[in-house]
Amino acid sequence: MGFGQNLQGRISHEALIKVQDTEIKILENIKRCIALRVESDRQYATALSKMVTQANKVDCSEFSDTLRFIKVWENMVVETECLTSNIRDNADTLATRTLETMTSVINEKKNMKRFYLDERNRLETEFNKLQADVQKLKIEYSKTVERLKAEKAKYQDLQSKGKGGSKLEDAKTKCNRTAIRLHRLHNDYVLALQDVVEHQKSYLENTLPSFLEYQQAAQELLVLQSKFVLEEYHKLTNFSTSDYQRKFDKIGSDIDSIVPETEYTSSFIGKYKSEPIQSNIFEFDERLIDSFSVSLQPGVLEVDDVTIEPLQQRKTQLSNQMNECQKSLEIKTTRHKSLSVELNRLETSLAVGKTAEVVAEFAEKKKEFIILEKEMAETESNLQKLQCIFETISKPLDELGDSNPPPVSNLLENGDLDTSSTLSTSSQSKKKTFLNYFRKQSDAQAYSLDNNIDSSKKKLKQLDSYEQHELNAETSSNGSTSLPVSPSKFPENATGLLSLENLPARLQDDECFHGVLPREEVQRLLVNNGDYLIRESKNKKTNEVQHVLSVFWEGHKHFIIQGTEGAWRFEGQAFRTISELIRYQHSIGTPVTTKSQAILRNPIKREAWELVNDDIQLEMKIGNGNFGEVYKGIFRGDHVVAVKTCKDTLSEDQRKKFLQEGRILKQYDHPNIVEFIGIAASRQPVMIVMEFVSGGALLTFLRKQGKSQSINKKQLIKMCVDAACGMAYLESKGCIHRDLAARNCLVGDQNIVKISDFGMSREEGEYHVSQGMKQIPIKWTAPEALNFGIYTTLCDIWSYSILMWEIFSFGVTPYTGSTNAQAREKIEEGYRMPAPAGTPDEVYEIMKRCWEYEPDKRPHFQEIYSTLSAIWKKY
Ligand code: ADP
Ligand code: MG
Repeated sequence: MGFGQNLQGRISHEALIKVQDTEIKILENIKRCIALRVESDRQYATALSKMVTQANKVDCSEFSDTLRFIKVWENMVVETECLTSNIRDNADTLATRTLETMTSVINEKKNMKRFYLDERNRLETEFNKLQADVQKLKIEYSKTVERLKAEKAKYQDLQSKGKGGSKLEDAKTKCNRTAIRLHRLHNDYVLALQDVVEHQKSYLENTLPSFLEYQQAAQELLVLQSKFVLEEYHKLTNFSTSDYQRKFDKIGSDIDSIVPETEYTSSFIGKYKSEPIQSNIFEFDERLIDSFSVSLQPGVLEVDDVTIEPLQQRKTQLSNQMNECQKSLEIKTTRHKSLSVELNRLETSLAVGKTAEVVAEFAEKKKEFIILEKEMAETESNLQKLQCIFETISKPLDELGDSNPPPVSNLLENGDLDTSSTLSTSSQSKKKTFLNYFRKQSDAQAYSLDNNIDSSKKKLKQLDSYEQHELNAETSSNGSTSLPVSPSKFPENATGLLSLENLPARLQDDECFHGVLPREEVQRLLVNNGDYLIRESKNKKTNEVQHVLSVFWEGHKHFIIQGTEGAWRFEGQAFRTISELIRYQHSIGTPVTTKSQAILRNPIKREAWELVNDDIQLEMKIGNGNFGEVYKGIFRGDHVVAVKTCKDTLSEDQRKKFLQEGRILKQYDHPNIVEFIGIAASRQPVMIVMEFVSGGALLTFLRKQGKSQSINKKQLIKMCVDAACGMAYLESKGCIHRDLAARNCLVGDQNIVKISDFGMSREEGEYHVSQGMKQIPIKWTAPEALNFGIYTTLCDIWSYSILMWEIFSFGVTPYTGSTNAQAREKIEEGYRMPAPAGTPDEVYEIMKRCWEYEPDKRPHFQEIYSTLSAIWKKY
């Protein structure tokens, strides 16, 4: 079944032309599609390499040998990197070899179609000519026959009339001539007929079929070549080749090799093993009572008429607490049992097949389960602790039975606590401290007695005033108000944190007080159940300052601390200071409110960068900031600093934005980046404290220098080098500055340039501005950021180049004479600023490269830094 026998007719001919036209169109389209595929694979590879860059930002090396999960991730990144370069290489091959083959296939196909048309035309013309020749001969033949017939008739007529002579002779000659012509024509016709018959025979039997067969073979050959192109395309875009498969299988088996149960036991523990923490020894310090002979005995509870009632109260309280613990333990045990059953069921389902839903459900239940186990262990040990204390109290009370306890007043009257005893002043003071601490069972009368003994000792002051408050509470409420807890209820712990002695006089000196830190920041600090801190906020309606306890307990919870100065409380007793209230709440280990169930366990202290406003004195205004003014100031009495303030009229949201700058700056440490000292948020106004850079803003500096002409070209290049060095550092940290300009750089000693004003900075590889863009420094901003809101470090490169231009023009405003809109339009049309007078050519070359419209064509900061440093050295 070939073209030769089957495609001779007109319909086939037309079909052959049409199919070739269509094939050409399709091949051309395939070529376009392959080009698009190349583009998309290259973009994919670029996106993947961004992922790899992101992955490499966190160094895994320290733990990758000990922790399987980290190793597996490291391998996954390597495989992804490998995959990325495979995709990129394949796209390159597609773009070159495959597309070139495709172009030649298309050209051949077009030539072939042209040849087919020409050849078929030629054959047809040839055959038509022969046919026409035969036809012509036939007509001539017929005319000659007619003529001969007429001439013959004329001759016979003359002969029959008996005419002779020349007329007859003429007629005869004519007849003979025509007869000769006819005979010759006859042969011509016969031969022409044979010619056409033979030609047709050979055309139909040989020429046309063999031409059509050639055509078929040629078309097939091109199909073969096209198939090769498709095969190559398939190979180069196939993600299921054995090579990829191997990579993915390796990743899969790597992931399978993570065994959560042995993750830390296999080598981590071995490598980082440490001795268990030794418990502190808490012993009754016998020196406290060795110098007087009261009935008090070291470590033994004192039961007398002043202590019996508090002891009984404490016993009841303990018994209630134990009941609560018991109840909570029962609830937890029941839940524990039902969770075990559910987990077993889920484990069975997981063994059969993993689905995202089952895995999620399993993880959720398992999390609840392990939290529950932890809480049960905690509740059990709490219960044991309560039981121990309960027994310690119960024993002497039971022994006393119904008999009256010995009166304490008698002992005092006997002079056992006489101030004229032989104790030294310091041991006296110690004794009193001790007495105050251990007056667990004391009453108002005993307090006043102690006060009488020595009320002037400074060390006791805090407790004294505390007692005063207790007394007041008692007297003013006729006993109906619940008494504040006695100081003895603050247990000491290993850190000594709960000791009353450590309590600060001012809330702002409390280590857990974080001032007006925004909620978002607070949430970042509180991560585990029981983490807590104190902060200040403003009541949105009344604008009044309120104190808030923020706790993490199954989520972030915020409690407004109720009360006024001197009487702060949650649901229970009131305290003189917020610090006392919080320490007490921590020490008793019961929920802050019944509804929340939140328990305080771990106070989150202020970090070193969280400064106290009182440590900063503002001296002189040096600039106007976006959110408030900028001052020169003194920090802790001797450091000169720059302070950015945030107007206290701004909303929480704006304050958050203001603090964003500090939060970003906090992480950097580089000679060409303004140094961060801290954030003061203990009260309004919130301030960001930085090193004071003596030369002020670079823009002002340049303009001054421009007038005095006291700076040379080499120094200008050095300024560009400094800025590039700072920016290269920021780039390496994944920070986009977004507002790089001479006005936002500072000049320090020896004209060192420092990057400053991180108010618009973001720590992202690519930052998209979705909402309307406000306050954009148009003349400094790259076109892709203006047009699409896409910011990358390559936008900073654009701005950096404007900064270079500002440096070399001594602070001229860029695109002088053009409005922002005009400058923007000019840039879109391809205009770029000429070099300021005196700019070295090499420097202007860099500027122009930084102003490439396509971000990817711009150089990176590291490269700029190296090139400029080399230029600078040469100068
Ligand atoms: P804004 O975010 O409002 O633009 P900037 O950080 O740019 O604020 O600071 C405004 C001005 O304050 C600067 O141009 C400069 O004159 C001065 N300034 C800011 N920080 C410092 C500093 N650390 N040392 C000296 N001057 C500073
Ligand atoms: Mg600024």
